[in-house]
Amino acid sequence: MRLYNTLTKRKEEFTPIEPGKVSIYVCGPTVYNLIHIGNARPMIVFDTARRYMEYKGYEVNYVSNFTDVDDKIINKAIEEGVSADVISTRYIEECKKDMADMNVRPATTHPLATQEIPGMIDMITNLIEQGYAYDVNGTVYFRTRKFKEYGKLSHKNLDDLRSGFRDLKVTGEDQKEDPLDFVLWKPKKEGEPYWDAPWSKGRPGWHIECSVMAKHYLGDTIDIHAGGEDLVFPHHENEIAQSECSNGVPFAHYWLHNAFLNIDNRKMSKSLGNFFTVRDIKEKYDLMVLRFFMLSAHYRSPLNFSAEIMESSKNALERMINSVDRLNDLIKAAEAKQPVTAEPASCTAEEQTKLEEMKQYRVKFEEAMDDDINTADAVAAVFELIKYANTEVTEESTGSFAALVRKEILTLCDILGLIVERKAEVLDEEIEQLIAERQAARKAKNFARADEIRDQLQAQGIILEDTREGVKWKRA
Ligand SMILES: [Zn+2]
Repeated sequence: MRLYNTLTKRKEEFTPIEPGKVSIYVCGPTVYNLIHIGNARPMIVFDTARRYMEYKGYEVNYVSNFTDVDDKIINKAIEEGVSADVISTRYIEECKKDMADMNVRPATTHPLATQEIPGMIDMITNLIEQGYAYDVNGTVYFRTRKFKEYGKLSHKNLDDLRSGFRDLKVTGEDQKEDPLDFVLWKPKKEGEPYWDAPWSKGRPGWHIECSVMAKHYLGDTIDIHAGGEDLVFPHHENEIAQSECSNGVPFAHYWLHNAFLNIDNRKMSKSLGNFFTVRDIKEKYDLMVLRFFMLSAHYRSPLNFSAEIMESSKNALERMINSVDRLNDLIKAAEAKQPVTAEPASCTAEEQTKLEEMKQYRVKFEEAMDDDINTADAVAAVFELIKYANTEVTEESTGSFAALVRKEILTLCDILGLIVERKAEVLDEEIEQLIAERQAARKAKNFARADEIRDQLQAQGIILEDTREGVKWKRA
């Protein structure tokens, strides 16, 4: 398997530190609001990478944090008149719901920055002792010029960076020794959450959080560190500086970054009015459509989101679902005649030859995924398999053949995290029961409940009609 490493700017063969095991750290969201679709991209692409590695037999230790102490969280808390942890707890729960709807599996561990403060104090203390950090009136800075390799991930020239900073003197920043020095610990302001530390009552800088959480759950050197490309500088560059100076060993062997997501070819921003949360998308689409859309491009290519592309993603996903539906029907019909074993031995000789031909799609799929997780080509391979299923499996086929083709589709889709089996429909009896309950509610003049039942049924695609002969229903 080859991965593009931002550190070396080339694709490299992936060799884990420990054979058969992968440690991966993915920077998670700051939880002050519902996640937006830009946050969803790294979640989906690196979840897919994880699924593929597990398919290949690796044991994957996947760690993704929630940044639960931050200016944005504090501001939101002040706005609502609640404490910061009320805000972060709420949006962690909401984020987890969105992840589930996108079929993003929970990480092995989802550490919270606020639970890891002792580790951060330890690392900062160690950096000060080694001369890599210094305290000025309770604020601790990292001494960037002391780390000779600073800039190696973002491939930036330090002198250029410094001269760029010269004109941009931020108030209160002049206590730094060098414009490139960054904050490890800062004293609290009035009303902010804080922790006791040797330098001041205060809170950690954002960068130190990830260095410490990665170390705690994955060790001093990890296989893969991933995140959005906007994190390369300064966040990941600073993480490397902190971790490598403190631990004395390389931090991560492979650095993976996903590209931006644009909206109608423009950068997503609240001021442009083209800002979408994952929840906004859910109002109109099953979030499987969003996942399909994200995987239809390579993760390192910029991705453009538009209403048309979402519609075509929806249609494409529907083609997969329809194909599986048709196979299910064929299998059911065959089962009515004789039991289906789903064994190649129960297929005809001709079908066995066809099963051999079918293997080419999985080969193509794996080749694509082995080539730096090229999900765009992997999705294309699945579509070739769908086309094969639609033409090769017919009413004359044995149930076993149909079942084996179906299994192949589901296996490949599962690696991509795509659910292509149609959701179970509401049963007729359940509908009848709810209609009866609605009639009773109306009789009791509980119109709120009656409306609620009507809405609930409507959400499930059931339309009610009040006629002279009573209530009739149909599926939309
Ligand atoms: Zn991070």
